[in-house]
Amino acid sequence: MTDPIKLAVLGSTGSVGRQALSLAEAFPEHIEIVGLAAAASLEPLAGSVIRFKPKAVSVLGPDEAGKLAALLKARGLRKENFPEILSGEAGAASVAAHSGAAAVLSAMAGAAGLKPTWAALKAGLKVALANKESLVLAGELIRPMISQISPADSEHSAVFQALGGKLTGQGIRRLILTASGGPFLGWTAEQLRCVTREMALNHPRWSMGPKISCDSATLMNKGLEVIEAHHLFGIPYDLIEVLVHPQSAVHSLVEFVDGSQLAQLGPADMRLSLAYSLSHPARWPVAGPKGCRSPLGIEALDLTLSSLTFAEPDRKFFRGLALAEEAGRRGGTAPAIMNGANEEAVRGFLTGRIPFVQIIPVVEECLNILPIDRVSTMEGVLEADKRARLEAGKIMERFEKKSLH
Ligand code: MG
Repeated sequence: MTDPIKLAVLGSTGSVGRQALSLAEAFPEHIEIVGLAAAASLEPLAGSVIRFKPKAVSVLGPDEAGKLAALLKARGLRKENFPEILSGEAGAASVAAHSGAAAVLSAMAGAAGLKPTWAALKAGLKVALANKESLVLAGELIRPMISQISPADSEHSAVFQALGGKLTGQGIRRLILTASGGPFLGWTAEQLRCVTREMALNHPRWSMGPKISCDSATLMNKGLEVIEAHHLFGIPYDLIEVLVHPQSAVHSLVEFVDGSQLAQLGPADMRLSLAYSLSHPARWPVAGPKGCRSPLGIEALDLTLSSLTFAEPDRKFFRGLALAEEAGRRGGTAPAIMNGANEEAVRGFLTGRIPFVQIIPVVEECLNILPIDRVSTMEGVLEADKRARLEAGKIMERFEKKSLH
C-alpha cells in the first residue's frame, strides 16, 4: 500500500474543487489534503479546513485572510492548529510549496488559474489539470513541461485513458472529442434570442459552475477543449474532431491508423476523470456496479437504457466552436484574446448586461479588432488577456447603447 498523495486543491470551493474534496473524503487512504486555495467563499473553506486540516490555505486578499481566521476561531479551532493563511495571487501560487504538496489540482475557474498552475509546474509538481484555460492561454509555453500534467477534464481523460494513461501514443489518426450539445441543441435562432440566465445554467447532463455551463451552451467550452487537446496531446488541429453526443456516455475517442477506435464510457460525473488524474495507472472504486451506487452515490452506466447517437456539430449555429478552432489554428495570442473576451462576455450575460446571443459576437469582434502577436513570455500572454477584457468591455458598451436606441 502506497502513502496517500499529498494534494493541494486550487479552487477548492468551486464545483470541481468540491467534487475533489468529496473524493478525498471517500478515499482518505489515497488522498491527503495538505493545501487549499479559494477566492472568497470563506464559510465552506473554513469547513474544509476543519475537516481536512491542511497545512496551508490561500484566500483572495488580507481582508479575507482575517475573516477566515475569525471563522476558524469561532468554530473552536485553536490558534496552534491553524493552517498557514496566505493571500492574493502570490498566496495561491505558493500554497502548494508552503503545504508540502506533491501534486496540485488546478481547479480554479478561467484565466485566473493560469499563474498558480504555472507556479506549480515551475516548482516541478505534478498537476491534475481541470483548468483548461492554462493550456488555452499558454499552451506553447507549458508544452515543455507537459509530462507533469494529467488531465482531469472528462474528454481529455477519456483520450488519456484510450492511450493507456499516456499523453502520447503510436499510430494515432485522429482524436474525436464528444460534446453533449448543451441545453440549446436543436433550437432555432429565434428561440435563442429569449434565453435567460437560468436556461443557460441548466445543463442537461453535467453539474458544473455557471461559467462553464454557459460555455457549454454556446459550445465555446468544446472549442476551448479542442485547443487544450492540441497542446496536451501534441496533435495538429486538423486531426481533432468534435461530435455531438447528447447522451454524454462516450467521453471521447482515439482513432488509430488501422481504423480501430478506442473510447472511454462512463457516467457523466467529473469525479471519475478527477480520480483517474490522481490515481492512474491504478483505479479507485468511484462508481459502483450497475444498479448499485458507490458510497459517492455514483453507479456505472447501464448500457441497455439508452441508445448512443453521434452527429456533426452545426458550426454556423454554434459559432463559438468555429471561432475557437480558428483562434487555435492562428495560435500566438489569439486563444488568450478569445478566452479573455469570452470570459468578459459571459460575465456580461450572467449579470444581465447583454443577451445570450451577443456573447459570441463580442468575442468575434474582439478577435477582429485586436492584433495577434507571437507568444514568447507569460507577460505577453497576460497582457493579451488584459487587452481583450478591456476591448470586450468597450464592445459591450456599444451593444448596450445600440439596444437603447
Ligand atoms: Mg469537459
